[in-house]
Amino acid sequence: MFSIASADDPTALDDGSFLFDQTHDDLLSMPMSTDSIHLKGGIAPIPGFSNLGYGRESSASSVHYGDLQDTSELSTSHEREASTPGAFVNGYGAHYTPSPLQHPFTPNSAVNGMTNIQKKLISRLDDGDANTTLNRTDAKTQLSLNDHPSMARTPQSLGRESQTSSTPELSQAQGQPKKHRRTNSLPVKGKVVEMKANSSIPAELSWSEFGRQCILAAENSRLNPFTLHPAEYKLLREHVTHAQVTIYLNIRNAILRLWHRNPLVYVSLSEAAGCARDKRYFGLAKVAYQWLLRHGYINFGCVEVPNTVGTIPKSKAKGALRRTIIVVGAGMSGLGCARHLEGLFAQLGDQLTDTGEHPPQIIVLEARPRVGGRVYSHPFLQQADSTLPPGHRCTAEMGAQIVTGFEHGNPMNTIIRGQLGIPYHGLRDNTILYDYDGTVVDRSQDILVEKLYNDVLERAAVYRNKPAAHRTVEGDRNLMAFGREPTDTGGSTVAELEMSDTPLAANAESTASTKQEKPTTGVEKLAGRAYQLSAGFNPDITAAETVQSMGWKLKPSASNAQSLDLDMIAKASEYPTLGQTMDEGLRQYQLLVDLKPRDMRLLSWHHANLEYANAVSVNQLSLSGWDQDIGNEFEGEHTEVIGGYQQVPRGLWQCPNKLDVRFNHVIKTVRYNTDEQEVGKAVRLECTNGEVYVADKVILTTPLGVLKSGSVTFEPPLPDWKQDVIERMGFGLLNKIVLVYEKAFWEPDRDMFGLLNEAELEASMRPEDYSAKRGRFYLFWNCIKTSGRPVLVALMAGEAAHYAEATSDNQLVREVTDRLDAMFAPNHVPLPSEAIVTRWKKDPFARGSYSYVGPKTQAGDYDVMARPHGPLHFAGEATCGTHPATVHGAYLAGLRVAAEVAETIIGPIKIPSPLIEKRVKIEPSSATASVDAKRRFDPAVPASRDNKPGRIQRNEDYEAAIIGAILEQIGERPIKPGRTGVNPFLLYTKDFWYICKQACDDAQKAKTGNPEAKASKQEIRNAVGLQWRTAEQAVKQPYMDQASNARDNATANTAEFQERVAIWDKEAVRIRREYIQAHPPEGGNEELILNSRTAIELGAGKRLRRL
Ligand SMILES: Cc1cc2nc3c(=O)[nH]c(=O)nc-3n(C[C@H](O)[C@H](O)[C@H](O)COP(=O)(O)OP(=O)(O)OC[C@H]3O[C@@H](n4cnc5c(N)ncnc54)[C@H](O)[C@@H]3O)c2cc1C
Repeated sequence: MFSIASADDPTALDDGSFLFDQTHDDLLSMPMSTDSIHLKGGIAPIPGFSNLGYGRESSASSVHYGDLQDTSELSTSHEREASTPGAFVNGYGAHYTPSPLQHPFTPNSAVNGMTNIQKKLISRLDDGDANTTLNRTDAKTQLSLNDHPSMARTPQSLGRESQTSSTPELSQAQGQPKKHRRTNSLPVKGKVVEMKANSSIPAELSWSEFGRQCILAAENSRLNPFTLHPAEYKLLREHVTHAQVTIYLNIRNAILRLWHRNPLVYVSLSEAAGCARDKRYFGLAKVAYQWLLRHGYINFGCVEVPNTVGTIPKSKAKGALRRTIIVVGAGMSGLGCARHLEGLFAQLGDQLTDTGEHPPQIIVLEARPRVGGRVYSHPFLQQADSTLPPGHRCTAEMGAQIVTGFEHGNPMNTIIRGQLGIPYHGLRDNTILYDYDGTVVDRSQDILVEKLYNDVLERAAVYRNKPAAHRTVEGDRNLMAFGREPTDTGGSTVAELEMSDTPLAANAESTASTKQEKPTTGVEKLAGRAYQLSAGFNPDITAAETVQSMGWKLKPSASNAQSLDLDMIAKASEYPTLGQTMDEGLRQYQLLVDLKPRDMRLLSWHHANLEYANAVSVNQLSLSGWDQDIGNEFEGEHTEVIGGYQQVPRGLWQCPNKLDVRFNHVIKTVRYNTDEQEVGKAVRLECTNGEVYVADKVILTTPLGVLKSGSVTFEPPLPDWKQDVIERMGFGLLNKIVLVYEKAFWEPDRDMFGLLNEAELEASMRPEDYSAKRGRFYLFWNCIKTSGRPVLVALMAGEAAHYAEATSDNQLVREVTDRLDAMFAPNHVPLPSEAIVTRWKKDPFARGSYSYVGPKTQAGDYDVMARPHGPLHFAGEATCGTHPATVHGAYLAGLRVAAEVAETIIGPIKIPSPLIEKRVKIEPSSATASVDAKRRFDPAVPASRDNKPGRIQRNEDYEAAIIGAILEQIGERPIKPGRTGVNPFLLYTKDFWYICKQACDDAQKAKTGNPEAKASKQEIRNAVGLQWRTAEQAVKQPYMDQASNARDNATANTAEFQERVAIWDKEAVRIRREYIQAHPPEGGNEELILNSRTAIELGAGKRLRRL
């Protein structure tokens, strides 16, 4: 027997009922084991951990999973303590046996953004360097977890480097990472921020390594390291020169580097200022810091931040304002927004209190009794026999399941790995495909068909919309790549340069629009998402030639000159779709190669995979815009969260302190006024429970499906531009059938397997005959590793998703069981012991699964969705054009809207005046000069003076650019090997010094009668010398041999050095010549520049390695 959950009662309030039936949820009330937890000996319980009781329990040891509150976060009302702290803390609940390397992050355990455990480790390791940053790369922190299977993929087990940073690459620093600790303590309110240039630049890193890390940090923040973000460009263009853009970018990237090294600790303003190499640039550092902070590039997520909110001056205290901001929806977007707003108003609160205003109150109103929205990990009826580590619940993902790569700027990387430390399982793309009759598809055939499919997709990509261009400005890549800076002598600002016809300085040619040509597409099997291919479709190569190069055999009737003509279909309609165009391509391919019905089933499987990613039939996807987000995909393997993705929204809700989320508040009417309003009057929200809220600002994160449905009424109605975009955008459907078994009958190590479907008309060669059925159970996820029980999740994509909404649970389970039975024959597949069917369309608080680009959607519509209207602001995945339809996209939209709302309250970022202090020439005293030499940055070019003639300055910049190009291509000039310093007597002295010293000290004691007497160094030297001279040849020989070997090595090293340096010099000359040819210098003195050499090229200018 199996129990089934369905979603036929959309009026019931319990969240689960929208997705599946009430019976299922009632059964959830079965309590689980009451085993008490045992903390590992020697590890202190974490203070405050027990305060975050799960459900009604407050004692960590008496927590039950699967209790009455499982699908909700409440005990009774919104004010109550909510659920599952342990479930977000590394996925370890109260049954958690902490490992020293797991860092349960709870409000009370996290002082200064560090857990007690981390603090202990750090204090043990602290070497007393006050100016250092927290670095968890220290080998001493790496206690082995390799023996613990469940921790196989937690950040702690990623190895020495990756464990320590949410950006693993950043930790792969050379040098001694021990010195880079960031241990920010929360600052004392009102204390003046201390700023010290260079203090955040680790002395022991070479400049090129430092530069590399900064560039990586920017890339891992979704920012181009070498270019201003269009918003930064707008902010700075009238204030900075071209050289200062590079300086600004260096500072900005260095601040990001600090953040990524440890996102458990906030980055402070003084740390940010320490990224400036000269105190003149503190203004730039402040702007960079503010910009990164406000826009959620640093200090975001579950991190404790300082509170700068001060006391309101007495004169303004009476009647001081306190605005209210209401966020509607506690999904990833709403929680991300509320959490970031709380953080911003804490960090920037003094700006409000100074003007006589209290920081605003932030309230989240949520319709469901739980957080997470479309991130929902539903617990199973049976929690026994779990294979998960203690403390994890056995759940299945009803909504979001896959993290599509942690690298290259996924904010989930910071939150999941860097802050919450939740374990995850890496997915392998080892799909096998079963044909509809249960036979396994031959791998080579699968590959062949996939190539053909991708080719048609690429040909369809010709009809893509051109991407919008954003104006920005680029810094000097050559210098930045090596952590160097240009000399800055002022001059025209970027804006002035743009307005005049003045030719730009060398390396400044890119004050221009960023217009990337859209790349070509592929589709990954793992998530159905389009990804970018570097090569591209070459229109000069015919389809007949292409298909042969893939390995297909051309039909005898076809010729090499034949190609596809998609123009007719693509241009036939005002709103062409991807599906129609591709199907036409597939039909035309049938004229070239001998496609069989099985190939059609395979091609249809790929369509189904696209329909999964886009939550709609390919026939409803816009041809020109369906993959408008391409090029933004993250890197790294896809993963699933162990113990439930919902741990992430729970973490955001509760860490570092609980957000004010009010559950069971269904907004039905939004009355608003776009005129300038007094505080508290602009918006009035009416809930179905009769409660009314007034607010100054409202952020709506309700899904696009809810906005489309009209279940929320706007008074006055939303303007046409907003209502039209809501209608133009697509909101699709994806459903899942979760099947829980007693025992796995599939390969437990295979993460997924695909299933081909037969056409409605058997063995049809017409692509359209496959559209109704191709998405039925087309993919099975094996969720044993993340759910802890033998679980398969079958996907219902495209038209099949709607079929699932309209078909009974019994029918669906029977159908899927028949299909599995055929696949695993001759073994018999039993009915599942539990089955859950999602019906997201019926869910009144979602009305579907996620957004897509429909045929009528226009380029830029995601941005229009995001645009505010009066006091109403909009977020949610459907407002994130760069990463739509995803968890990270929803979260990023939350950060974006938080910055937008904060700006309306605090005002725009103020540019300090002057932004850059004038250079003051101070003659250092000889004493300070020698100290400074150790710390100071040795610029790529000599420091300039304010009155230096422009021409000399230009030459210096030009030289700097050349050396940058050289260093980028061939690195630093080889360093001459040091003197061998090997002399047999010195080697002997090393071994015998302490023996002789002991003998001399003893002699001295005997001679003076003083037990403390010590021999002088000279006496010891004399004694060692005498011993050496009188030693037997056999004693001396090993030292002579060692010295002779060392000499031979040194000779060989010198020869090798000379060879390498000759090559380097030759290459440097070539690069210099090529650079001059490519960028002729102003004034035309090519010859002179060609023959000049910088100190670096002469091998004398090796930058000081700072100590
Ligand atoms: C089946 C499925 C599979 C998915 N798979 C993935 C995946 O593998 N990877 C991935 O990255 N993404 C996936 N997604 C997409 C991802 O889940 C969403 O993009 C993301 O969670 C959306 O977050 P959000 O905050 O924008 O909206 P939501 O999470 O929907 O949050 C909106 C909130 O508003 C509340 N609300 C709605 N109406 C009202 C009202 N009237 N009053 C008050 N509150 C209201 C809702 O209850 C909800 O909590 C999947 C989604 C689904 C449905």
